[in-house]
Amino acid sequence: MALVNAKEMLTKAKEGHYAVGQFNINNLEWTKAVLLTAQELNSPVILGVSEGAGKYMCGYKTVVGMVNGMLEELNITVPVALHLDHGSYEGAKACIAAGFSSVMFDGSHYPIAENVEKTTELVQICADKNLSIEAEVGSIGGEEDGVVGMGECADPNECKMIADLGVTMLAAGIGNIHGVYPENWAGLSFDTLDAVQKLTGSMPLVLHGGTGIPADMIKKAITLGVSKINVNTECQLSFAAATRKYIEEGKDQKGKGFDPRKLLAPGFEAIKATVKEKMELFGSVNKA
Ligand SMILES: [Zn+2]
Repeated sequence: MALVNAKEMLTKAKEGHYAVGQFNINNLEWTKAVLLTAQELNSPVILGVSEGAGKYMCGYKTVVGMVNGMLEELNITVPVALHLDHGSYEGAKACIAAGFSSVMFDGSHYPIAENVEKTTELVQICADKNLSIEAEVGSIGGEEDGVVGMGECADPNECKMIADLGVTMLAAGIGNIHGVYPENWAGLSFDTLDAVQKLTGSMPLVLHGGTGIPADMIKKAITLGVSKINVNTECQLSFAAATRKYIEEGKDQKGKGFDPRKLLAPGFEAIKATVKEKMELFGSVNKA
């Protein structure tokens, strides 16, 4: 099946009270692990690509070529969207030109008027090409800032303003952050989420920073309109732990254990296990 935009899968998720996972990819093993797990579980899936990961994988055209090749050669039949994560204005345009089926324009650091102006332009471009577009209101903090912040809460009225521009899905800060949550984290602000959903109606809402949010909070967020949950760090942690174990057990030094196809296999399986666990938690199994 060819790439699809994320609109239909997220509309169904919002109506059906479950969420579709966005799993960020970094290389061939990552992409193959996420796609095979989605197919095995008959789940829709969104492949997330940050601008940094896009650059790491040589560029957006390489990413599009790799993903399209896998969809065909792995016989993937579940709906798959290829989505730019936290795109700049220029990055969003580059991904659209390269063949992504979905983009996020993160204009949350602009004054609201400029966020509105740039989002409006990109919404029109995406509409013309039948692509989905995610916008963000209320900056989602995290360790990239150098300091682990508590995560901002979006202004529900600003959320409504951006939602009304015609975006497909909306990321609103509700106290969530990227990376690993600090021990003294206050938790998600369900009051903010509830207020945002009341104003934005059927708009699928996006929860960034899905790593380490307790399962009961994830489930409650889904009941309040979250239909897309981004997972990145958790796959990185499980990949690293499995790779570390393989090397610490000296397996790379036994026989042909140094062969990258063997060396990377435990990490690949660990990503699959993490993706499976998340799809089960989010309720997207058998929703393809
Ligand atoms: Zn994010």
